[in-house]
Amino acid sequence: MAKHAEKLRVVIVGAGFCGLTAAIECQLRGMHPILVEAYAGASSHGDLLDFVPNAGRVFDSWANGRVGEALLAAGVNRAKTLDFYNQDNVMLRSDPWPQGIDLKGTFAGHRGAMHEIVYNYAKELGIEMHFNSRVEKYFDSDDEHGVIIAGTGKKILGDVVLACDGPKSLARSQLLGLPESRVNSGYAIFRAFFELTEEMLQDPFMAELTKKDEDTTRFWVGEDMHGFIYTWNQGRDCAWVLTHLDDADIQESWSFPAKKEDVRTYLKQAKFPEVWSRVLDLTPEDRMVDYKLVWRDPLTTWLSPAKHSAVMGDAAHCHLPTSANGACQAVEDAATIAICLEKSQGDVPLALQIFERIRFNRSHVIHQASISTRNIYHKNNWTPEMVEKNPGSLVMPLLEWVVDFDCQKNAEDNYDRLAKEVISGKTGTIEELSLPAGGNYDCMNLTEEDNKAAALQKTVPL
Ligand SMILES: Cc1cc2nc3c(=O)[nH]c(=O)nc-3n(C[C@H](O)[C@H](O)[C@H](O)COP(=O)(O)OP(=O)(O)OC[C@H]3O[C@@H](n4cnc5c(N)ncnc54)[C@H](O)[C@@H]3O)c2cc1C
Repeated sequence: MAKHAEKLRVVIVGAGFCGLTAAIECQLRGMHPILVEAYAGASSHGDLLDFVPNAGRVFDSWANGRVGEALLAAGVNRAKTLDFYNQDNVMLRSDPWPQGIDLKGTFAGHRGAMHEIVYNYAKELGIEMHFNSRVEKYFDSDDEHGVIIAGTGKKILGDVVLACDGPKSLARSQLLGLPESRVNSGYAIFRAFFELTEEMLQDPFMAELTKKDEDTTRFWVGEDMHGFIYTWNQGRDCAWVLTHLDDADIQESWSFPAKKEDVRTYLKQAKFPEVWSRVLDLTPEDRMVDYKLVWRDPLTTWLSPAKHSAVMGDAAHCHLPTSANGACQAVEDAATIAICLEKSQGDVPLALQIFERIRFNRSHVIHQASISTRNIYHKNNWTPEMVEKNPGSLVMPLLEWVVDFDCQKNAEDNYDRLAKEVISGKTGTIEELSLPAGGNYDCMNLTEEDNKAAALQKTVPL
């Protein structure tokens, strides 16, 4: 018997951007979300994260734009350009920074600060949240759907369970019956966020990177390495990330304290310019981590057999940072499922199947691009001439079909047709049943003659 959406109890595991957005969107649509998170509160960890309008417009729709304004104020909002350099510090291109041309819905900056803003909005809406609550068991039978909390054994039941439990998702094995399938991507990323002191600002390299009235966003690319340095908040905040080759094991932990000497070795190997060594020297060592980049092959379904539970966000599609859209895709998942649950009038299996068919191909193609983009960056000897000749090649992979996309309108527009197809029992593979991805990344591939990948004579992992 269908239950009206207003009475739906939606158990959501994980208060990352996916879980928080799902909880907010379900609450705004009159459901009863129950958010369960292992951490003690909003997590302030993380460094750089950029949201672009395919996710940013969801944030902008909240509280008459107030949440979007807060996100904008907290981040990189006064940069004029994103500048690309090669390992010789030669500028390859300089693109307008989105906010410099007044594009709405672009929020970049410190992940922790942005996470807190979204968390505070969830709190303001009065969403039921259980922190310090690690789910140890998911269950989804014909008549019971929910989770059990470790330690207390507390059972939380719902009409639907949304597992937004991130890259190490327990739901993948317990709800979908999938074996653990992590693969070391062959790369790791050094990450750092720190506040700049007056003393640091005296350094000529740091002084050049920071401006009182302008934020700076720069990107360097070289053989097997690329990295960003951002400074913002009137020259008070700095974050950098550096993706590097890595052969360490990933069995135990994915995140380690980073050692400066290791970073130095990689910078030297890739012949990165002096500005990187200077920024490294100035970075407090306890603000640096070395984060293993784990790859997971795409899942063939995101739904439990009883179709009352779904995995979403990084639990369903764990992006490498080079897609530049992992968190945005998590937000698209969350916004889409809330619409499907609302429109299904309590028919959860119908809602979840439509959700999967709306999201599958688009998410899959963007997920896959994280590998090809990384290889395009790392396996070419970039020169200004190459970039000039192939202007679409060395770019952030934020193509129009990815960024200029309204996931909520898309869900509204396609729901009824997909509902008919689900109800009629239309058969096919998930790719055939799902909406088309809407685009590809072909324009980033260099022409044969300009493609220096072969010249580098490298085996590209994955
Ligand atoms: C270095 C780096 C840079 C990136 N840059 C970008 C970018 O610029 N743009 C972009 O769009 N994406 C970016 N991404 C990707 C983005 O960070 C992720 O795709 C996104 O944060 C995933 O959100 P999520 O909510 O699905 O998962 P998570 O943020 O991992 O949240 C999962 C939550 O679930 C909780 N949890 C897990 N297990 C349990 C359990 N058993 N019980 C209770 N709670 C549990 C965790 O504590 C966590 O809070 C980047 C990623 C990296 C690593």
